[in-house]
Amino acid sequence: MSIKKKQTIESLIEKIHVYDPKADLDMIRLAYDFADDAHQGQVRKTGEPYIIHPLAAAHILADMQIDPVIVMATLLHDVPEDTRKTLEDIEKNFGSEIASMVRGITKLGKLKYRGVERYIENLRKMFVAMAEDVRVMIIKFADRIHNLTTLDALPPQKRYRIALESLEIYAPIANRLGMDDIKGQLEDLSFKFVYPKEYERVQKVLEEKLQGKERYYKGVIQTVETELKKAHISPVQIYGRNKKLFSLYQKLLRKNNEINHVYDVVAVRVIVQNVAECYATLGILHNIWKPYKGRIKDYISQPKPNGYQSLHTTVFGEAGEPIEFQIRTLEMHQNAEYGIASHWHYDEKGSRMPKKEIKWAKELAEIQKDILNKLSDLEEMKVDFLQSRIFVFTPKGDVLDLPEGATPIDFAYHIHSEVGNKCTGAMVNEKNVSLDTELKNGDIVEIRLDKNKKCPSPDWLDIAKTHTAKVHIRNSLKKDKLGFSRFFNILSKKQ
Ligand code: MN
Repeated sequence: MSIKKKQTIESLIEKIHVYDPKADLDMIRLAYDFADDAHQGQVRKTGEPYIIHPLAAAHILADMQIDPVIVMATLLHDVPEDTRKTLEDIEKNFGSEIASMVRGITKLGKLKYRGVERYIENLRKMFVAMAEDVRVMIIKFADRIHNLTTLDALPPQKRYRIALESLEIYAPIANRLGMDDIKGQLEDLSFKFVYPKEYERVQKVLEEKLQGKERYYKGVIQTVETELKKAHISPVQIYGRNKKLFSLYQKLLRKNNEINHVYDVVAVRVIVQNVAECYATLGILHNIWKPYKGRIKDYISQPKPNGYQSLHTTVFGEAGEPIEFQIRTLEMHQNAEYGIASHWHYDEKGSRMPKKEIKWAKELAEIQKDILNKLSDLEEMKVDFLQSRIFVFTPKGDVLDLPEGATPIDFAYHIHSEVGNKCTGAMVNEKNVSLDTELKNGDIVEIRLDKNKKCPSPDWLDIAKTHTAKVHIRNSLKKDKLGFSRFFNILSKKQ
């Protein structure tokens, strides 16, 4: 791993120049100077000068090779809200296009949690802004990603809320917009704060699974290269990618925590020149290795709802070890990584993808309708977000903070989903209590477990008060179905 180079305006300009040689670099520097000047004297919670934040967000987008105009607006995104410089100043200096994006971001406002009504209002604003100009959302994602990387500077309660919102709202929106790269970053950065124990566990599982596999996958890639060459196919790129942590976590939930039943912990991506080569490559792979039955998926002829296209297959590798392959063209690849943002993404040749018919506006309207209708879930989240918190302890003295009114069921699920699922009873301050007992500040809670128990009882959904517990309970209850029912997923899948 390389050490991250310090992010400066110089390195930002360098980056942009590589993917868009025609970019107006002087203008980008002016935008930086303008923002730097405006934020002069302000510091972030981390103690760093404020300009670090818009600069870092701009770097996130430059790394994705996004249109420099969006990167410039990102540099300026907090100016009107936080400083004496106004939108009119921005318009005067940088024109109406940049000003309009910054206006969009400003309308969204900063991180604020002041009651569930305000929260719904924020969501509504987000959808309006997105429908007006989806570039605003791209900036918002970069803004949020950087905020998530500096979350340690905030008090625990705030940390949790921001991470939960990112996981429950932002990541699913990124997913619906087909922005896999952004979705993955939002999820993995939030995962750690929302489910810290699960995060550690999944991290360990992944590490163990990958240990010593590097040579093996190198060999696989070499074999593919050689065989493709024989068929006169010269791939654009072949590489292995590890599943992201949160995505692995969700899959593990659906697979009874059996890592060996997850076939795409590593997937080998083969990027080729055109669609014909995709199918040819599939045939060649199946000629080398025997495919698993029922694991060949043709998302090229039948794209996923968010537009995702690829061929997937799982084959029996060495010693029967499954290997998943994902075969796609470069255009499909960029679409998969950047989704809607690929319209503003520059490819290796420094040109942008052709604009295609954009269906997302209609989709957005649907997401919006769903989300606003799903008030019961917002009610649930309200408890997690807004209730005052109590602090309770495990017998070992670990402290958990839960919303007021939380029960031993909440406690159990906040320790670990399996502790919740296997819970049969509870003791509070060394006395047996029923599972619907309201916990009080300072209580010492011990959960009794039955390790053979697999499933929670459905009426726990009424006893649990926290969103987290309810999500886990619902997941366990319908694990064998499509599964992970974070509220956004229910919404977006309901037909
Ligand atoms: Mn910001």
